[in-house]
Amino acid sequence: MPELPEVETVVRGLNAAIGGDHIVSVKVLREDSVAFPDVALFCRSLGQKKFLQAWRRGKYIVIELEGGSSLICHLRMSGRLIVKGSTGRKRAERGRFLRVLFQLGSGRELHFEDMRVFGRLWFKPDHLTLEEVVPSIAELGVEPLAQDNFGGGLSGKLLQELFDGKSQAVKSALLDQRLVAGVGNIYADEALFLSGVHPQRKAGSLKKKEYEKLAENVRAVLTMGIESGGSTLRDYVNAEGVNGNYQNQAYVYGRTGSPCLHCQSAIARVKIAGRSSHFCPRCQKAQN
Ligand SMILES: [Zn+2]
Repeated sequence: MPELPEVETVVRGLNAAIGGDHIVSVKVLREDSVAFPDVALFCRSLGQKKFLQAWRRGKYIVIELEGGSSLICHLRMSGRLIVKGSTGRKRAERGRFLRVLFQLGSGRELHFEDMRVFGRLWFKPDHLTLEEVVPSIAELGVEPLAQDNFGGGLSGKLLQELFDGKSQAVKSALLDQRLVAGVGNIYADEALFLSGVHPQRKAGSLKKKEYEKLAENVRAVLTMGIESGGSTLRDYVNAEGVNGNYQNQAYVYGRTGSPCLHCQSAIARVKIAGRSSHFCPRCQKAQN
């Protein structure tokens, strides 16, 4: 599943690939992929719209178009946004899971592929706000990496305020998109390991220093993920395969039974709120 770094990678790829280009026509091959408005209006509204820039809020991709409208995308489990046909005279290849096809003015195509059809696209007309079109955007918590639009990112102080009084496991609090937006399972496990915090400790029970470390490490692992994602970009925008890159350098995620890279103890796994959590029982003490 694409996490924040993969989505950020897609956004950067889009900005590099489609700036200045425009949509000529839209073809929807799977109606479920369009969340708003109805398919006919979606296609009609996007025709001839010029791309301005793409950005991200949590795992939502917002592609601003001229005149104040936007194309919004959530990749969910298996969605991909790919620019095809950038070189040569060859007609762009069409994947098996192509759901929505945007014909571009440059002759290229922007493909929305989605094997499992959980991903969604929205068109935001200029007279509506993002939150009116996609209400769950309004519920998103702190954007962990500093972005101009959303304050200074995640700090220890902010994390402490968000987790204050919470008795749920710190791991599940990290995954709560209403508290911190965009942190998924892999990056939560990695950040907790690097901070020496056991995933089952109560979110509200950490010491000031631990909140500071954890906030810093959440930002560090996300940034590392973005950096390894960027290296796989060529002339297309990739929303998959980047997890794989990061996993190869993971400390604990997916390493159950393997030796801890710090102390050689076997990495353990527990289920927390239905998700597998990987940790080192020695480096991450249940209570400090
Ligand atoms: Zn260890």
